[in-house]
Amino acid sequence: MMSSRRLPFVFASLVLACSAADPADGSGGTETSSGGAGGRPIVGVAGGGGSLPEQPPAIAPPGASEGEQPGLDGDNVVLAADGLDAVFRVESAPGEHVHFWLSFADEPELLELSVERWNGVGIDTLGTTDAGHGLRTLALFDAGEPRTYWARVHTDAAAFDGTLTVTRTPFADASTCVEDCERLLQLPLPIDAAVDGYATAPSTVFRYQFGRRDLVMLLRYAGRSMADSGHAPFVPEDLSQWDGETPGTDVGAPRHASHKRGRDVDVSLYGTDGLAPWRSYCETVNDGSGRECVPGTMHDLDGVANATMYAGFLESGRVTMSFLDAELIGPVVDGAELAAADGAIAASLLPLYGDGVHLQHWPNHDNHIHVRLSEGPSFQPEAVEPP
Ligand SMILES: [Zn+2]
Repeated sequence: MMSSRRLPFVFASLVLACSAADPADGSGGTETSSGGAGGRPIVGVAGGGGSLPEQPPAIAPPGASEGEQPGLDGDNVVLAADGLDAVFRVESAPGEHVHFWLSFADEPELLELSVERWNGVGIDTLGTTDAGHGLRTLALFDAGEPRTYWARVHTDAAAFDGTLTVTRTPFADASTCVEDCERLLQLPLPIDAAVDGYATAPSTVFRYQFGRRDLVMLLRYAGRSMADSGHAPFVPEDLSQWDGETPGTDVGAPRHASHKRGRDVDVSLYGTDGLAPWRSYCETVNDGSGRECVPGTMHDLDGVANATMYAGFLESGRVTMSFLDAELIGPVVDGAELAAADGAIAASLLPLYGDGVHLQHWPNHDNHIHVRLSEGPSFQPEAVEPP
């Protein structure tokens, strides 16, 4: 952890200039470590004058990132080149989801969009995306306190021009959604996987991580609940494309049958080692309809941890069905019994695990669970739509 959150920099007028936050919120909040180590050294920082108020620790001093320019809400002209990144600075407020959308006509061989976060003493990169035809997209949500972020555009082109659109949408973490629940939002980059409870992996495709607001909230709720109880982060992969279509539609190769309108998500499973990377938990055979577990070959699946993680979704009453290989369903049902006996999940949820609807077999689900949310305000039985 950092030894000091206070910096000797002065910073009188720029605080919150770009955000709608109530300044009264700026003094509180807690530091959530984002790892801290290895942030880039800061440049261009003016020394403190001593007599002016101390700068809030979560707001970077002006010029903290070399070449930074203000990232305005709406469209920003992006001019970048090999050796000259375009760096847009924004201040996030606790009550808003901030979305960065980079669009362009001509795609250079290398074009990366990164989101970087001021950690109080340096800069951490939260995520980088380098894929998508005509687009790059990343999002952040920082519930702690107003904080400085940067969107960085990096290219190997001699000259690149595009548009960076910054969109702020009111957002708050909660276990249930009460309004604007169908709006598609990109899953925010985890700030600290040990707190957020979910992580990204090299296989993460950011432009395929758009969910209904209620699903994004549920994912984050399930993640926080697991982190609070000391579990490792799980790894969500596809939700929907940015336009609500099935992931892969943009390249003419849909990766699923469903995953439309942001109501579906694929989530990794916990093993008995306490970790939840994407991996199979059985020996599989492919009979032509997909990859399925050979009966009796289940191994290393932590039924209790997976039942506990799934409870984070079930509590909402909004899950219509989920898909998991039949070989793995039994251990999760058994795990739910144990988790309820321990008080880790509500006993009232137990009937859902074994009803054959909330957990049902489908091929290719030996390495993850597919969770589907109702598009209505509450659970309604619906016909099975292949995942
Ligand atoms: Zn799926």
